[in-house]
Amino acid sequence: MAIEPGNLRPSLHIGGEWSGSSDGGTREIVDPATGSAILVVDEATPDDARRAISVARHVFDDGRWAGTSVAERTAFLTKIADLLQRDKEQLAHIETLDTGKTLAESRIDIDDVTSVFRYYAELAAVHGDRLVDVGRPEVISRVVHEPIGVCVMIAPWNYPLLQISWKIAPALAAGCTMVLKPSEVTPLSTIAFVKLVQEAGVPDGVVNLVQGSGAVLGEALTANPDVDFISFTGGLATGRTILAAAASNVTKVAVELGGKNPHIVFADAVSDPTAFADSVDHVLTGVFLHSGQVCSAGTRLIIEDSVADLFVAALAERARGIRMGSGLDPTSETGPLVSEAQRRKIEKYVALGVEEGAELVVGGSRPDDRELADGSYFLPTIFDRCDRTMKIVQEETFGPILTVERFTTEEEALRLGNDTNYGLAAGVRTSDSARGERLVRGLRHGTVWLNDFGIYTAAAEWGGFKRSGNGRELGPSGLSEYQEAKHIWHNTSPTAAGWFVTR
Ligand code: NAD
Repeated sequence: MAIEPGNLRPSLHIGGEWSGSSDGGTREIVDPATGSAILVVDEATPDDARRAISVARHVFDDGRWAGTSVAERTAFLTKIADLLQRDKEQLAHIETLDTGKTLAESRIDIDDVTSVFRYYAELAAVHGDRLVDVGRPEVISRVVHEPIGVCVMIAPWNYPLLQISWKIAPALAAGCTMVLKPSEVTPLSTIAFVKLVQEAGVPDGVVNLVQGSGAVLGEALTANPDVDFISFTGGLATGRTILAAAASNVTKVAVELGGKNPHIVFADAVSDPTAFADSVDHVLTGVFLHSGQVCSAGTRLIIEDSVADLFVAALAERARGIRMGSGLDPTSETGPLVSEAQRRKIEKYVALGVEEGAELVVGGSRPDDRELADGSYFLPTIFDRCDRTMKIVQEETFGPILTVERFTTEEEALRLGNDTNYGLAAGVRTSDSARGERLVRGLRHGTVWLNDFGIYTAAAEWGGFKRSGNGRELGPSGLSEYQEAKHIWHNTSPTAAGWFVTR
């Protein structure tokens, strides 16, 4: 089936049927590059969400999916991966229209989504049960992995399909059923994706899809006793709400939250012109890719004082040169922010930074290019002379804002790198490998890059320390999240327990 924005309605998918909302509710989806509507999608009511959960519960309990063999399920994953590649261009186009990111980024996203499905197809095949030696020849003791059950998956708008694929692929591999709720800001690629799941032949009711705002659907999705696991990616405040809502049913919850990620640069990393230019390039890309709307964006530059002035000047020069424009224009290097609301939030943070006494080096405003006037664009922004007491240093802005702090000793660099309530990702640049190893072990973040930044792989765990969340996605742990470990003790020669004396 050809995927076009025009055929993404009806937009709810429950028990294999595509439908509109039970109350006829809809939402207009806006292209952030132009400010105009792309199309309208159907929005679920809480009753629709409850119905989707009840279908997922029924389909899980009747075993039509959980009872399939690993080989059958991994064949579906492989088929989905093939379909993703077949429709890569349309999917990337939809992602760009919806999020504003460049087509080049969207294509990488679709390749990454594909690799997640291929990775879990391979992993599930070898992630077997475990025999436990209990020292008694008549006992077979084994730990088996069973699907956790009905999963609710709630995703953000910055990497709409990629973030939800980190949940769907391991859940399918494990044998779970699920209800997906993409961000109401960017639902399109997930609708297109569910059509591919259907085309791949995954049984009806395994993958269900609802649309709508978290405020309306949150309670129905997260305080429901039929749900076994909630996997959420989004902001800290929402994560807290979901954890509280799930507590009454003791539902397992994994939350992947925000980050305020340090990028630490030592003078020894920039001692020759090439290394200097490369480091500037990595810091620039680390923070301004996708206009900073990346949970792991390197938004805090922590730099050795002796090289800071030169480095910040070079960085500002490069930031001024970033070509901004529609994601569909192949010459654009970065697109608009995802929405007008997000731009207003960034503007508030810029005003706050100025008020807090940070030195605005570059950006800080909307571009004055007339061609960009209708989109929600914002210039790459750098604040120098920042310190840890400032909110722009401590709070996640989720936009193109870099703050600069300076240090003089390695201890100070490490202390600053850990001086955040978040703990998602961090980068270190140094030519001294012993120092680099000390730093990467000392930093309390879920991913740490040494002399690189922003790279990840489906085979390695992703997740946060501290308030960046709990649980892990990707890697073997990303599959275990969707499994219950069951210990089976089989006594092949039963005898009396013999504890109490027989009278
Ligand atoms: P958000 O928290 O506003 O929304 C995320 C999702 O939660 C959306 O689908 C939204 O509709 C839903 N939601 C909102 N209120 C809800 C409620 N009460 N109950 C249930 N669901 C609810 O986040 P966002 O603005 O879409 O995304 C940006 C955030 O996501 C940033 O903080 C970013 O750091 C984070 N993020 C984290 C990772 C990671 O891997 N840790 C990856 C991407 C984004």
